[in-house]
Amino acid sequence: MLGRVVIVGGGVAGLAAAAKLLTSGFRVELLEARDRLGGRAGSFRMGTSWVDPCQHVNLGCCTALRGLLKEFGQERELIRQKCIWFCTKDGRISPFQASPLPEPFHLAPAFLKAHWLGWQDKWAIARGLNHLRNTPLPKTDRPLAAWLKETRQTAGAIEGLWGPVVVSALNEPWSTASFLTAAKVFREGLLGPRGSFEVELPRASLFELYDDGLGRALVEKGLKLRRATRVRQVVFERGKVIGVQTLGSEFIPAEVVIMAMPRYQWSQLLSKAIVSGHPELAQGEELGWAPITGVHLWLDRPITDLPHAALVGGEGHWLFRHRSVPRFVGDPSHYHQVVLSASGPALANGSQSLLERILLELGDYFPTMRKAVLLEAKVITERRATIRPVVGVDQNRPGPKTSQRGLFLAGDWTATGWPSTMEGAVRSGISAAKAVCNASHAEKSKGT
Ligand SMILES: Cc1cc2nc3c(=O)[nH]c(=O)nc-3n(C[C@H](O)[C@H](O)[C@H](O)COP(=O)(O)OP(=O)(O)OC[C@H]3O[C@@H](n4cnc5c(N)ncnc54)[C@H](O)[C@@H]3O)c2cc1C
Repeated sequence: MLGRVVIVGGGVAGLAAAAKLLTSGFRVELLEARDRLGGRAGSFRMGTSWVDPCQHVNLGCCTALRGLLKEFGQERELIRQKCIWFCTKDGRISPFQASPLPEPFHLAPAFLKAHWLGWQDKWAIARGLNHLRNTPLPKTDRPLAAWLKETRQTAGAIEGLWGPVVVSALNEPWSTASFLTAAKVFREGLLGPRGSFEVELPRASLFELYDDGLGRALVEKGLKLRRATRVRQVVFERGKVIGVQTLGSEFIPAEVVIMAMPRYQWSQLLSKAIVSGHPELAQGEELGWAPITGVHLWLDRPITDLPHAALVGGEGHWLFRHRSVPRFVGDPSHYHQVVLSASGPALANGSQSLLERILLELGDYFPTMRKAVLLEAKVITERRATIRPVVGVDQNRPGPKTSQRGLFLAGDWTATGWPSTMEGAVRSGISAAKAVCNASHAEKSKGT
C-alpha cells in the first residue's frame, strides 16, 4: 500500500497532482524550490504589484484547468473574453465571436466578417476545417506545412489564421510544427463546442491565482507545503523509492515520489545507474524547448479601449491590457503587455532593438501610441518556455508511470496528448495521480 507521497515541483502539474491525490485520501507533501508556487506560470514582485513575466492565456477548450480551479474555488479568477479582437496595421478591428447559429456553424459569420481575410482565404479555411472535421487523423505524424499544401491553403489563410493560431497555441511557427499537435488545437479550439475558441485570462497575477489562491486552498485541504525547499536527490533502497533528500541534507521519507518538473531540471535528482536501468527515464532528454517573450510597457495613456488585441501581421502576436499593474502607490501609468511566441528570431538583435520595433509597430495598430510617452519598459524572455511541437514530438514524451517502483512523472512535457501548456500540465498531474492510485490499489491487493 502506497501511503505517503512527495511531489517535487510546485508548478501547475505538481499542484494538479496534489489536488487529485488529496481528494483520493493520500498524505501529500509538496516541495517547491522557489519561495512561491506556479513555476513557469508564476509572477515576480515589482514595487506594489505582482507582474507575470508573460501573460498566460487559457482557451475555452481547456476543461481540465478550469475544472481544477473550480474544484478549489478559484474559477472566478479567470475572466472569459467571449470576443477576440483582431487588429491590423491599418487601424481596422474585427470582433471574432460565436453567433447564435448551431454548432459547427457558430463561427461562420465571424469568419465571413473577418476584414483581414480575402474571399479565397475564407474559402480555403472552410475547406481546411471541413477536412479536419471529416478526415481521421493519421497514425504517423507529418509536417503541418504538408497538410496546408495538400488542402490548398492560401498565403492569406496561413498568415491570417493557421499561422497565428499555431504560433500562439503551440509556440512554434507553422512552417516547422507537427501536424498532429496543430490538428489537436484546431479541432479542440475551432471545431469544438461553442466557446472552445474563447480565451480566458487570469483576473489578477499568476501568483495570486496559483500560490495565494490554489496553493492556499490545497493547504486547507491538508497539503503539507514547503516552499524554498530544493530536492537534491530521490533516494532508493532495494529497488524502490524511500524518499527524497533536500539541498539542506534533510531526508523526507515517502513511498511515492512524483517528479513534476521539466526533464532538463531533474537529471541530477536521479543517478546515472537509475536512468540507464529504466529507459523511459531517458525519454524527453531530446525534446527541444522554445522561448516566449513579454514586452511590458508602462505608458502615460491607454492606446486602445480593447482589453486585448490579436495583432494580425505583426512581429508581436498579442497585446494585453485587461489589468492594471501599478509600480507604486498612486502610479498613474497605463500597463500594456505585448507577447511574442517562438521569439528566438525576434531577439536576434537583442531586447532593446525588439522593444524599439514593438513601440513603432504599435503605432500602426493604434495611432494613439504615436503620442504616448513610454514611462518604463521591460523585455522578459523565458528561453525554455515550452517544448517544441515538431514532427514526431510525442514519441519523446514519456507517460506518468515509470518502471522504477514508487517513481512517477508529471509536467507539461510528458505525454498528455496536449501541447506544452497549463492545460497539458494539469492533465499530466492528474494522470500521475491516477497512476499512483492504480499502483496503490495493485499493491494493496497483492498485500504488499
Ligand atoms: C513565457 C511563457 C508564456 C507562456 N504562456 C502560456 C499561455 O499563454 N498558456 C498556457 O497554457 N501556457 C503557457 N505557458 C506554458 C506554461 O507556463 C507551462 O506549460 C506550465 O506552467 C508548466 O507547468 P509544469 O508544472 O509542468 O512545469 P513548471 O512550471 O516548470 O514547474 C516545475 C516546478 O518545479 C520546481 N523545481 C524544479 N526543480 C526542483 C527541485 N529540485 N526541487 C523542488 N522544486 C523544483 C520549479 O521551481 C517549478 O516551480 C507559458 C510559459 C512561459 C514560460
